[in-house]
Amino acid sequence: MIMNETNLVVGCGLSGAVIARLLADDGERVLVIDRKSHIAGNIYDYVDENGICIHKYGSHIFHTNNENVWNFIKKFADFNTYMHKVFAIIDGIETTIPFNFNTLYDVFPKSLAERLEKKLLEKFTYNTKISILDFKNQEDSDLKFLAEYIYEKVFLHYTSKQWNKSPSEIDGSVTARVPVYISKDSRYFQDKYQGIPLCGYTKMVENILNHPNIKVKLNTKYDNKHFSEYKRIFCTASIDEFFNYKHGVLPYRSVNFKFETHNREFYQNNAVVNYPCNYDFTRIHEYKYYLNDKSEKTVIAKEYSEAFEDGKNERYYPIQSEENLSLYKKYKKDASSNTYFLGRLGDYKYYDMDKAIERALKLFEEIK
Ligand code: UDP
Repeated sequence: MIMNETNLVVGCGLSGAVIARLLADDGERVLVIDRKSHIAGNIYDYVDENGICIHKYGSHIFHTNNENVWNFIKKFADFNTYMHKVFAIIDGIETTIPFNFNTLYDVFPKSLAERLEKKLLEKFTYNTKISILDFKNQEDSDLKFLAEYIYEKVFLHYTSKQWNKSPSEIDGSVTARVPVYISKDSRYFQDKYQGIPLCGYTKMVENILNHPNIKVKLNTKYDNKHFSEYKRIFCTASIDEFFNYKHGVLPYRSVNFKFETHNREFYQNNAVVNYPCNYDFTRIHEYKYYLNDKSEKTVIAKEYSEAFEDGKNERYYPIQSEENLSLYKKYKKDASSNTYFLGRLGDYKYYDMDKAIERALKLFEEIK
């Protein structure tokens, strides 16, 4: 590979693969390196000995309203029409979240649910979403009761397990991902396009990388001594580590998945069941639902949140706060003109998969 004419992409997850492909399609040479032993970063999946496709780093469901993103990604995988729902155990009742009219009727006696539904429809437009923090500002005593109920039963304990903070202490955009939904739509996402790649996410990323101009080297850590040898550097690794933590450490939340194989066809009634108020784990994933895998056994994972510690676990969630953002910006200022950052870790942003692709598409347009 000719150096100085080669672009280096650090990290072989979705963002790294997409920017590599866009460059390669444009005639550029690209070397993609990753310190892990596999491609696909945290969307890595594999088929286990039971024929079940396991999302090693937690459930990933593709969803987007962005036509450009959809047109890009569907070149590399066919998707099924899986529409994600999340069940939650609230007061021992299995229901769906985001909290919607179906949830209302699941958890309350009919007469109370009817009264609350009527008041909600008087106050809010049908099919709108309200973040729990906004929803808490109610004057009507029934709606106040409802808001307190949802806050306590859905958000407070889950958020404290997930972030080790209360909902009011974390950035409002995080809990707003799971709004109160004035609707009978029980799906987790309302996007036009949603599904799971039939070939799995790893194969999808492999297809993205499958280009004569792209070379991939796994088990390879970047070495900044060699950066001058490359035309451009695209970093999807964490920016603080990239700069040797010289301004301080950017914090992340991590998760620990405890996998179990059960000798029965199904463990639970849905791919994801949240336990906001019970146990130390936040949710249980059951993987066979995503691609309708047939097996007499089933594999689940209980998800436990924990702080990220280098060498112990992986970075999953940037912790959005003014302080962390200003630290991020300090690092960003130090970037040389041929170095670009993208992805959840490079941008320190809580991207969904479609937003990570959108970001890579936009970055490519900017540098072209
Ligand atoms: N959340 C919650 N209770 C739930 C589900 C979500 O309090 O049952 C809050 C929690 O703070 C979480 C955030 O909403 O971190 C975003 O949830 P989402 O399911 O989008 O998180 P992800 O799937 O990305 O981990």
